[in-house]
Amino acid sequence: CGIVGYVGPRDVIPVLTNGLEKLEYRGYDSAGVAYVQDGKMKVVKTKGRLQNLRDKLGDASQENTIGIGHTRWATHGEPSDINSHPHTNVSGSLAVVHNGIIENFLKLKEWLQEKGVHFVSETDTEVVAHLVNYYYEGDLKTAVMKAVKMLEGSYALGVITVKEPDRIVAVRKDSPLIVGIGKGENLIASDVPAILEYTRDVYFLDDNEVAVIKKDEIQIYDAYGARTTKEAVTIDWDV
Ligand code: GLU
Repeated sequence: CGIVGYVGPRDVIPVLTNGLEKLEYRGYDSAGVAYVQDGKMKVVKTKGRLQNLRDKLGDASQENTIGIGHTRWATHGEPSDINSHPHTNVSGSLAVVHNGIIENFLKLKEWLQEKGVHFVSETDTEVVAHLVNYYYEGDLKTAVMKAVKMLEGSYALGVITVKEPDRIVAVRKDSPLIVGIGKGENLIASDVPAILEYTRDVYFLDDNEVAVIKKDEIQIYDAYGARTTKEAVTIDWDV
């Protein structure tokens, strides 16, 4: 339901939780974050209010890293800690947040299970984490592009991996996603209010566009993997 992502020098925890707070108006039943710390993926997620997530995070903090956060409005799988996003692959090296519905997730789940992949949640989203991992050969953007070719349905996705801890890969289809253009830091979000504290300059991603977001560079690719340029939009309204 709500997505926030951050790459840059700040403590990633409050950027994510405060951003999710700005998206609360959309409603949600669970919340979670994933961020890279000392080369490992940290995932903290819980059913219930954002305050539950803040309590669970305690004094966790990490500067100069990447992180993604999510507020969930359950469509597949009851609201629970396990079904909350972010979702990871089996080894926990990569993490995914997702808005929308993967219509063909059961077929993909069976296909992955035949290959020995062990699922832990009941969500449609978890297939995305395992698919990206399945296609991963050293370049996250390429793996995400291969994975989304398999998906039917609607999605806004933010993906990170400990193997490339300088970037967030974002892609969308029939579910909104924006990139916030900062100075020495950049963000993603499912809606403008989540990032207004940091920047008013944004890219509105189009369907099937893929963005690679590093702290001082944003690359946009079309559905065929070719680099494209986009016009930034300046948000001149307040929330
Ligand atoms: N379909 C996903 C789920 O149920 C994402 C729902 C959402 O957009 O929050 O976990």
